[in-house]
This record gives sequence, C-alpha cells and structure tokens, in this order.
Amino acid sequence: MSVMEISHRTPGFVEVAAQAEADLRELMSIPANYKVLFMQGGASAQFSLVPLNLSPPNSTADYINTGHWSQRGITEARRYCSVHVAADAGGDYRRVPPQQELCFSGHAAYAHYTPNETISGVEFGYVPETGGVPLVADMSSSILSRPIDVAKFGMIYAGAQKNIGPSGLTVVVVREDLLGRARPDTPHVFDYEAIADNQSMLNTPPTFAWYMAGLVFKWLKAAGGVTEMGKRNQAKAAMLYGCIDASGLYRNSVANDARSWMNVTFTLSKPALDSEFLAAAAAAGLKGLKGHRLVGGMRASIYNAMPIEGVEKLCSFMQDFERRHR
Ligand code: PMP
Repeated sequence: MSVMEISHRTPGFVEVAAQAEADLRELMSIPANYKVLFMQGGASAQFSLVPLNLSPPNSTADYINTGHWSQRGITEARRYCSVHVAADAGGDYRRVPPQQELCFSGHAAYAHYTPNETISGVEFGYVPETGGVPLVADMSSSILSRPIDVAKFGMIYAGAQKNIGPSGLTVVVVREDLLGRARPDTPHVFDYEAIADNQSMLNTPPTFAWYMAGLVFKWLKAAGGVTEMGKRNQAKAAMLYGCIDASGLYRNSVANDARSWMNVTFTLSKPALDSEFLAAAAAAGLKGLKGHRLVGGMRASIYNAMPIEGVEKLCSFMQDFERRHR
C-alpha cells in the first residue's frame, strides 16, 4: 500500500510524519521550546486562527500592513479583536516601512506581519523589533528561502504550496508559552495546544502533502539547507533585477531595499505588448509569468525549486524580446 492508502495512525506513517518534523527542525534550527504543527486550511485559515488562539476577547492585536495578504489578515482579525495598524505602507504597496516608522500600540496580544508580500513582490529585509510582544509572521511565500532566527518569533505560519510541498498542508511553528490561550469557542481541531498535544493528528491530516513535504525537506538538506538556498535565491534575484534595471522596456517599481527574492514583479513600458510577451514566453517554455489578476503586469515567482538556469533563460528571453521590439 502507498502512503495514500495507509492509516495516518500506522507506524509507517507516524515515522514519515516524525521524520518530516525532525528534518524541518534541523533545517530551520527550531529551538526546543517551539512546537511544529502540521495543519489544514491554508494560510487563510490562520488569518482567523491566530486571533482565536492568541488574543483574548476584547484585546488588541498590532498589524503591519504591507500589501494584499497583510490586509486579508487584518480584515479577518477585526472579526475577533481590535486591530491597531502599526504601519501602513499604503498606496500601491511598493515599500517596507523601516523600524522607526513602526508604531505599536504597547498593549497588543501579538504583532503580525507578512515578511514577503507575494503579489507585489515586497519583502522585509529585517525582522521587526516589537519590544517583547510576540511577533507572528505569515511566511507563506518566503519560508525556507534563507536562514532566519526562529527565536525572534512567537509564531510562524506558512501554506505549504510555495517552498514546502503540495497545497493542503499548513506548517505552524509556535512558541510553547503561547499555547493554551485559545478562546473557548475555538474549534477543537484548530486549537494549537490540542494539535500540539496530539502530534498534529487530532483528525486525519493531509498525509500525502505531509509525506511530500518530508521529501522536500530531505532534498533541501542534501542541497545544503537554507544557507545554500539563501545564496542561490539572492543570486537568482540579483540576476533578474539586474536584467530589468538594465533594460528600457521592463520596469520594477519596488523600493530597492524591499525587492523580493521570491516574487519578481515587472511591467512593460509598452503595455500593448503584454499579451505578445506572455505568448512568446510560453512558446519558449517560460510559463506562469502573468502578474496576479489584482495588479496586472508580470511576475516571475522564483521559489527554491527554480534553478538559476531557469532565471538565465528568462533573462535571455527578455533581452531578446526587447531587441525585437525596439
Ligand atoms: N499569505 C501569503 C503571503 C500568500 O502568498 C498566500 C497565497 N498566495 C496566502 C497567504 C493565502 O494562502 P492559502 O491559499 O494557503 O490560504
């Protein structure tokens, strides 16, 4: 029987599950006082589960708003607590507020931010200092892309489908002292403490996605871990931004210190060429370059699985396309 057919409670699967956790702990150097949870519902479910689990009724939570996914988190949190926006990089979301612009409430149950905004391609180059308030990070599109110091965070969560494995799995890393704070009306299967106490097997977990995540963790370890990924991702991003900046046709409008290593967005100075660009790129084997439907333009998502050769191909295609459309 395959992993999809066996019960999640059989020793065969329990071993797969435990190994995946051990490998993730090793990759991210997760300290012993943090629990790793393998959950469902995607990162979007966490937008509600974070306030339900971490903020008592009538409390305040601080949020940094740097784009679409931050906003989605804020909208959902407002259903449960009073949201204080500590900084709003509003307008077209092309920058990250520096530490001195962050204005925390001073009495928040937690402070939430989105280290990498996937749609506009805006990434924090630093970890916000919250003065002791637990920092919660939606790392859906940046987890495992470079080394981070987990001890700086109260909680990290990420939908699996970018750098971890197939969709359907959500990874949560939470500091132990934050467990046991869930509101009484939190669904039991979404109570972080109950999940931790039951090795993420309160009910049937997404076994195949968990198994695949374990294979990705092994691949990452063999490739040199997050230190090596960080080097590769930095080189990939530098190459692509370099190509954009050197051209007269393409433009990236994100502030230099906020340019994402994972999602490189750009527009064409002649938008009439957009569809021709996408068709020619697809014909050259370069697919999925259309920007998010909310913002248009182009987006090259160059997650861990994209080799540098893919970025080289994209750059030479872009240069060639520009020569042909002067
Ligand atoms: N947060 C971020 C940063 C994302 O990139 C995404 C998905 N692209 C989400 C949240 C939503 O994730 P999900 O579809 O897993 O709910």
